[in-house]
Amino acid sequence: MKDSVQIAGAGLVGSLLALYLRRRGYPVQVYEGRPDARKTELAGGRSINLALSDRGLKALERVGLADKVLKTMAIPMYGRMMHDREGTLNYQAYGKDNQCINSVSRSGLNALLMDEAEAAGAQITFEERCHGADYQRQALFLENALTGKSTEATAEVSFGTDGAFSAVRQSIMKTDRFNYSQHFIEHGYKELTIPPGEQGAFRMEKNALHIWPRGHYMLIALPNPDGSFTCTLFLPFEGEPSFASLDTPEAGRRFFEGEFPDALAMMPHFDQEWEHNPAASMVIIRCFPWSRGRTAILGDASHAIVPFYGQGMNSGFEDCRVLDDMLEEGRSESWEALFERYERQRKPDADAIADLAMRNFVEMRDLTGDPDFLLQKKIEARFAERQPDKWTPLYSLVTFSPDVRYSEALARGKRQDQIMEKIMARPDIHEKWDSEGVMEQIRAAVQKQ
Ligand SMILES: Cc1cc2nc3c(=O)[nH]c(=O)nc-3n(C[C@H](O)[C@H](O)[C@H](O)COP(=O)(O)OP(=O)(O)OC[C@H]3O[C@@H](n4cnc5c(N)ncnc54)[C@H](O)[C@@H]3O)c2cc1C
Repeated sequence: MKDSVQIAGAGLVGSLLALYLRRRGYPVQVYEGRPDARKTELAGGRSINLALSDRGLKALERVGLADKVLKTMAIPMYGRMMHDREGTLNYQAYGKDNQCINSVSRSGLNALLMDEAEAAGAQITFEERCHGADYQRQALFLENALTGKSTEATAEVSFGTDGAFSAVRQSIMKTDRFNYSQHFIEHGYKELTIPPGEQGAFRMEKNALHIWPRGHYMLIALPNPDGSFTCTLFLPFEGEPSFASLDTPEAGRRFFEGEFPDALAMMPHFDQEWEHNPAASMVIIRCFPWSRGRTAILGDASHAIVPFYGQGMNSGFEDCRVLDDMLEEGRSESWEALFERYERQRKPDADAIADLAMRNFVEMRDLTGDPDFLLQKKIEARFAERQPDKWTPLYSLVTFSPDVRYSEALARGKRQDQIMEKIMARPDIHEKWDSEGVMEQIRAAVQKQ
């Protein structure tokens, strides 16, 4: 008989983890704090749609779900469509050969993963909120949302996939030599909607991620299958302009008229949404270790990051895949030893994607509107096209290269930056950007490194 497993949190990562473990034959019980969103149609989580890319797809592929997700619920986005204040568009492909990221519904994907986990034999109990764990006994302390009744559940192994404010983590945090940091960035986000046009038509390019880069703040939009776009405004909480200073729909509208007039023109419900949709915060959480005894945390519970690389869910799915790789090796080791091996291997990658995500925020909001930055990307793409064995742009390493670890992607990105700094300093770079001389200089620099 395989060891019994219990999991706190049936979000994206918890549901996929349940499915992975069921496929290995472990009896799995999941406790989810919220009601079953498949029945109640609650807005699922914090963002309505998410960008799913190759790392997440690789993890889904292992359980035979990648194609199903792509065929039934994904809209491919092949590049960034930048909008300036005048509404002029500038398109930049994400990769080569039609490489794309995919807009998927958070609640739709979560529902599919829960369905599949249950079909594989996992038991999911809803409205059982975990408020702590005892790692010495693999106990989860639960409270029923309807009755208020407290119970204790035990199993041979416990997991916390209960998100950024994980109750399981908070319990193991109280142990000796547990390192923890939590940083709220100064920006918040507010979701707004561009509804479909006539007969469900998309009112902007469907197969792109739209960005309105404006320096210290930005607006982005991802397409939904019904022809609408979910827009997210990233803006500081305090200062000028900020969610605090734009505290009425009229003030919000004036701000949009100046900064994002083309988007505003497509938002008939702007005033209501500005008033009612909350300005939510974003947090970076780093901690270590990720396990105590036979209790481990995965996904946002162990590494919450800012959303600007579109990698939070993808990295959480990758957590499940990496752990599964280790189980696949079939070593005769204890769960304690397995978890220690897992967290030691995975932590540098979680730290790397946390750094990359923050860095991409600066790139998206400040640089995607900067002609020199766009030129640099063009040069990199040209060199990569000519010498694909010598250069993969950082974005592609992170997004389209699931066999390259995040830590390796970050290190390679830093080396490539050093080379591009010198290239961009050439006085003739604007006229000669795709000349043989420039290409040769990059080639020589790569060889030297
Ligand atoms: C604005 C925004 C945009 C984003 N965009 C992207 C993107 O494009 N691509 C991407 O890859 N990632 C994106 N992310 C990140 C992504 O949302 C998270 O990384 C991902 O949801 C983490 O999954 P999780 O299962 O670890 O945690 P969660 O999704 O937070 O799920 C946790 C689950 O546990 C439950 N739970 C919580 N506490 C308890 C408890 N005490 N007891 C029992 N159950 C509990 C919750 O109800 C939930 O079901 C975005 C995040 C934000 C905020």
